[in-house]
Parts: sequence; C-alpha cells; structure tokens
Amino acid sequence: MLPAAFDYVRPSDLTETVQILAQRGDEGKLLAGGQSLIPLLKLRFALPEVLIDIGRLEGFEYVRVEGEQLRIGAGTRHAFLAASPVAREHAPALAAAAPQIADPIVRNWGTIGGSLAHADPAGDLGSVMIAANSDFVALSNRGERVLRAREFFEGPFTTALAPDELLVEIRVPLARGRAFGSYSKLERKIGDFATVGVAVCLDMDDGTCRTAGIGLTAVGATNLEAREAEVALSGRRLDNEAIEEASRRAADAADPTSDLRGSAEYKRDVVRVYVQRALKQAGGMNR
Ligand SMILES: Cc1cc2nc3c(=O)[nH]c(=O)nc-3n(C[C@H](O)[C@H](O)[C@H](O)COP(=O)(O)OP(=O)(O)OC[C@H]3O[C@@H](n4cnc5c(N)ncnc54)[C@H](O)[C@@H]3O)c2cc1C
Repeated sequence: MLPAAFDYVRPSDLTETVQILAQRGDEGKLLAGGQSLIPLLKLRFALPEVLIDIGRLEGFEYVRVEGEQLRIGAGTRHAFLAASPVAREHAPALAAAAPQIADPIVRNWGTIGGSLAHADPAGDLGSVMIAANSDFVALSNRGERVLRAREFFEGPFTTALAPDELLVEIRVPLARGRAFGSYSKLERKIGDFATVGVAVCLDMDDGTCRTAGIGLTAVGATNLEAREAEVALSGRRLDNEAIEEASRRAADAADPTSDLRGSAEYKRDVVRVYVQRALKQAGGMNR
C-alpha cells in the first residue's frame, strides 16, 4: 500500500527542529532512519500530516565519554554503536546488544533515538538502558529535560516524550573497573526480534554485587525492570543461593503472552535461565 499524502520538511539543525515541533508536533512525525516509521506509513497505521526529517542532522551521531557517562547522540545508527570501541570499553551490555539488533541493513539506517522513541516492547535497547540505569535527554523549544530510562516507557509504543519534544542524547553511566554487562537474546533466526531478551549490568566488588540492573525484552507491555531481582542481588555475594533467588524473581517480573514465538510459560523460564547464566558468568562460575 502507498502512504497517505504528507508534507515533508528537513530542518537544518536542532533549533529549527524544535521550532517546527512546537508548531506542528501534534500532527507531525519525526523521521530518522525510517525503519519503523516507513512500514507504519505504508500500512497507514501512521497518518502524519508532516514528516520532519532529522535523518541527516549534523552532530547528531556520536558516542563519547563525558565525565562519568557515555553519551550517545540520538541520531547514532545501530551499526555505528556496534562498531564503537568506546561503547565496548565503557558499556559492555550495550556493546553486546547493538550487533544483535535486526540485520545489517536495518542497523545501517536505524538510529538509537528512533528505536527508543518507537518503544516497541520487543526492542532490545530499552532493556539495556533500564539495566544500565541510563538517562535520556529530551529537547523542545521550552528547553532540555532529563528522563530516566526506567520511567520512559509508558506502554506499548508509548513514551514519556511530549509531542513537541525529541530525544537528543542518551546518557549511560560508565561501567566501573569490575563491572559486568551482558545482553542475551533468544531469536528464531538471525535478524529476528527477540522471543526473549535479558540485559544484566552489575557493579561488582570482589565477588560481591554492589548494585544490579536487570532489564527484560519482549515479556511485557514495555521493556521491563526486574526490580525484585535487583534488590535480591544488591550488596550480596554472588553465590548459588543469591543467583537462584534473583533468577526466580526476574522470571516472576516477566509478564509474557503466548504467541508464535513460544508459550508464556516457556518465555518466563527463558528469562530465569538467561538471568542465571549471566549471573554465573559474572560470578566466574561454570554454567
Ligand atoms: C526487519 C526489521 C528487523 C528489526 N529487528 C529488530 C531487532 O531485532 N531488535 C530491535 O530492537 N529492533 C529491531 N527493529 C527495529 C529497528 O531497530 C527500528 O526500526 C529502528 O531502530 C528505528 O530507528 P529509526 O531511526 O529507523 O526510526 P524511525 O523509523 O525513523 O522512527 C521511529 C519512531 O521514532 C520517532 N523518532 C525517531 N527519532 C526520534 C527522536 N530523536 N526523538 C523522538 N522521536 C523520534 C519517529 O517519529 C517514529 O515514531 C527491526 C526493524 C526492522 C525493519
């Protein structure tokens, strides 16, 4: 099907973008890499009056360290992030997830900001951002505001962004010296969306877990935080008992539905097993 008619504007910078959003944010849609939006336009699930093309804004694609944070421009493509040595060094869970997203074509077009703003509960990055306790910077002509990743996803394909705001930067706390980070994804075939995904970020100190972050993909209405599991790990030695308890609690946090990818019961058990494996790896134990 062909998309319905729409106006097209291509602002030259962020200042012009927020001005257009202030005037037409309610009726418009930002177009970044188009990997989610263009299929929606073609199916006429999205019928914006205007497309605001931010796909070629300069200075919108970067991955760099500033202070205690890894800062990622919202216009950064998945492929750029997947190839970033800075991300590999400072955000291991993110570096593990980036090459598992979709296929090379989608990774070359799709942006981090577009992926997070689209808020697909089966999107991989939201869980990593939750596990890593990241912040998102939103910009409008009213100024900047910082949103916590844990409060960003309000429902399927729904976020805390206002219609006149765009996501401009993602801030991931740097993994400290003995930090552990992983992203485990079960997919039917390479390039598929997750049947289940599990992001784990731990701040470790000599076998003890100081703080834990666990995010879950495709097992709820949004990317989920496994809060009870995180609490069970914090300040605790990473022994078998702690690992069993945390993986059980993470499975309890999942709220999957049965579909072609598997039954709810199966998906919940995959969460348990993936959390258990990640924690054993973090604790230097055999699987
Ligand atoms: C075949 C295929 C396989 C895929 N597999 C996976 C997968 O395995 N894992 C996964 O996580 N994802 C997967 N995806 C989704 C893909 O990651 C997203 O489509 C892509 O990252 C979205 O980014 P984009 O730049 O293309 O966004 P667009 O499609 O341009 O925009 C998506 C939405 O975000 C909004 N938007 C874009 N940028 C911003 C911004 N800076 N601020 C606010 N709103 C913004 C748009 O208005 C739109 O509503 C897959 C997609 C395809 C087509």
